[in-house]
Amino acid sequence: MADIGRLAGAAAEAKQLAQDDATRRNGAPRILSPSSLRGDNIDATTVLTTTLGTDGAKRPLTADDLAAFRQNVRVLGKRFKGGITARQVVDMSHMIDRKRAREEITVAVPASARGVKAGGKVDRLEVRFITNASKKYGASRHHVLVEFMGYSTAVASGAMTAVKAAALMRKQQLRFDCDCGRHTYWYRYVATVGNYHAGRPENGYPKIRNPNLVGVACKHVLRVMAEIEGAGLVLSFLQRAIEKGRSSESGAGSIRANQKEADAQAAKQSARPTARGARSGDRDYDRSRAALRKASRSTTTRPKTVAGGSKRVAALAAEPAAQETLLGIIKQLGITQEQAIAILKGASNAK
Ligand SMILES: [Zn+2]
Repeated sequence: MADIGRLAGAAAEAKQLAQDDATRRNGAPRILSPSSLRGDNIDATTVLTTTLGTDGAKRPLTADDLAAFRQNVRVLGKRFKGGITARQVVDMSHMIDRKRAREEITVAVPASARGVKAGGKVDRLEVRFITNASKKYGASRHHVLVEFMGYSTAVASGAMTAVKAAALMRKQQLRFDCDCGRHTYWYRYVATVGNYHAGRPENGYPKIRNPNLVGVACKHVLRVMAEIEGAGLVLSFLQRAIEKGRSSESGAGSIRANQKEADAQAAKQSARPTARGARSGDRDYDRSRAALRKASRSTTTRPKTVAGGSKRVAALAAEPAAQETLLGIIKQLGITQEQAIAILKGASNAK
């Protein structure tokens, strides 16, 4: 089973890694800065190389390259407005990253969440996820930070139950960051220009690794997005965060996952077919994700119609004639549909 390690201290570890990365970045030579990209600083670009239009071989950067890069930035900058959805992250990602997510990243669990304030009021929810690492590059786990931009509305909107608000929030705009090399060298710049980065922005154009600015997310982020879209655990975690935000004056409460639950969840995820069915095509990933979504719907948002003894009730309710009769009875009794289902469930369990 993939191990996610201790949750205590995970946030501090992630912050330290981010700081180390920022220090490394500050000392990095040969960065194509925004002013050089504009052509304002031609001397600085003469020592730079790119792989644009080659099969990965480096060649000196030209003025035409800069124009092509600027065009890439313009196109990308127009694409998003203050965030990206989990669905878009998956849909726009590289096939190779999806394949790696499917084959290598078996576990992704939320560890902690906190409401972040901006301008004196709650602005977004910051959730720290932990995933297993592929173990190819020395790391034993990775930290994926996801900011849910729909949080302030979810907290403020009393019209919706917390679980409904959470279900909506996970489909809305978000921003993300990962501590791995793939995100750092290929995608952080793309995320910065696209305005969906969480954490440190990157202003140096990825002229060697990703000159065409293609792809969106590394395997860790993709795995986390699949959980955000489909997992019941993430839904209930977001629900808890919203409840916490609603109960605190400022809306900026924080919550933590407990180690035992996270370990149990990690074990459950490791045993999922997604992790094992690694050899087939990409459709497989989509199918398992759809199954995940279905499973989470049946266990979280609509538990009353499918759980336990209500199976027969559900079958009966599928008959049009029976439906009409049932609705008539519900109306006469002046009860809600949920109450009616609970009563019927009790009756069918008692048999
Ligand atoms: Zn990553």
